[in-house]
Amino acid sequence: MSHIFPRHTKSLPPMVARGEGAYLYDTNGKAYLDGSGGAAVSCLGHGDATVIAAMKAQLDQVAFAHTGFFTSEPAERLADRLIELAPEGLDRVYVVAGGSEAMESALKLARQYHLETGAPERRNIIARRQSYHGNTLGALSTGGNIWRREPFAPLLIDVHHVSPCYAYRGMEPGETEETYGERLAAELEAKIEELGPETVMAFVAEPVVGATAGAVPAVPGYFRRVREICDRHGILLILDEVMCGMGRTGTLFACEQDGVSPDICAIAKGLGAGYAPIGAMLCSSDIYAAIENGSGFFQHGHTYLGHPTSCAGANAVLDRLVSDRLLDRVAPTGEMLRAALHERFGQHPNVGDIRGRGLFLGLELVEDRATKAPFDPSRGVAGKLKKAAFAEGLICYPMGGTIDGQRGDHVLLAPPFILTEDQVGELVDKLDAALTSVL
Ligand code: PMP
Repeated sequence: MSHIFPRHTKSLPPMVARGEGAYLYDTNGKAYLDGSGGAAVSCLGHGDATVIAAMKAQLDQVAFAHTGFFTSEPAERLADRLIELAPEGLDRVYVVAGGSEAMESALKLARQYHLETGAPERRNIIARRQSYHGNTLGALSTGGNIWRREPFAPLLIDVHHVSPCYAYRGMEPGETEETYGERLAAELEAKIEELGPETVMAFVAEPVVGATAGAVPAVPGYFRRVREICDRHGILLILDEVMCGMGRTGTLFACEQDGVSPDICAIAKGLGAGYAPIGAMLCSSDIYAAIENGSGFFQHGHTYLGHPTSCAGANAVLDRLVSDRLLDRVAPTGEMLRAALHERFGQHPNVGDIRGRGLFLGLELVEDRATKAPFDPSRGVAGKLKKAAFAEGLICYPMGGTIDGQRGDHVLLAPPFILTEDQVGELVDKLDAALTSVL
């Protein structure tokens, strides 16, 4: 009998034995093409010799030293490197152990910033309905996914939610991307006015929505309008790049493509690429200065802050992405995958939308292409697709998300950046076979 506490208590998954390149192998020797990098994590693929060597070398030096006593060379180097590569204005790095920790840190830093600058009344968070920001209670409160929130609703803090920027379902007849973006910006501003601008602490959003929507980028101009509104009202802009950051969309930070810099940015997944459990929160010099010139102490912390071995891993990941130019492969390989998806599923009666950026792509599955009617949740399409794809030897990330209160199904693809042309073909073939067996 196993004593592990699996996600689904009624079905223990197969046991993984090893990983190599774009594939994982189970203990029966079956190969799985990692079409979603787990959950958009394994951007380098498996068994990357550079990262493994860097982490081994760090383990030989010192595995861990608590940040209550020490800083470390790998943590300092990681912070310097991230700031050198980050969008303008970001100036300090707080290294944590994952995405939820990064988001909790971001929310608490935003609150402390307002306290330190004499605005204790700023306590309201505004986020978007179709979003996921992590599973700890603060991050869960901020996310808008109804299914994830529901069981824990009595424990959650009050967060105010506005519409997501989701052109496929949100754009009304006659609207252009421009006027749609303007309408959403007006909705955000109306919410701020309703709450009282002086009470709003932060607006939180994923530049490209991942787990709850299947790689949905905003329309052009949306985030510039949001930035301008936040600035006008003294509200901090927190961007959650836990899933879409670290090169996944073709630029190291997804927001580079939207032409905005946040006040606080959370990253994780691709930063450790699966080799190390690591995340980070980046913040502006203004925010850091408020703490430095105020209490001098960020009233937060976790045991594994700045973990030296994880930081050594992340430094090696950045070497692979930037110095070895793996990042440069994301846009062309992403275009290749997007074209293959369009060719295979562009006219598919149950594929309503193909979207995303770089190697962060999503397919929305619908009952009726013309009306965009989603499948009845009782059909469990996403769950069945995950199972069918796995049987075909493909790891992908289907989700029965909640689309503005309405269930819908999509599948997220986020393969390693080393994906070859043949593997693009293999991914699409296996997805096709899985879809055919389910629908
Ligand atoms: N934010 C986003 C956008 C995410 O996709 C996730 C993880 N799916 C998280 C936060 C939470 O990250 P973690 O699971 O590492 O805590």
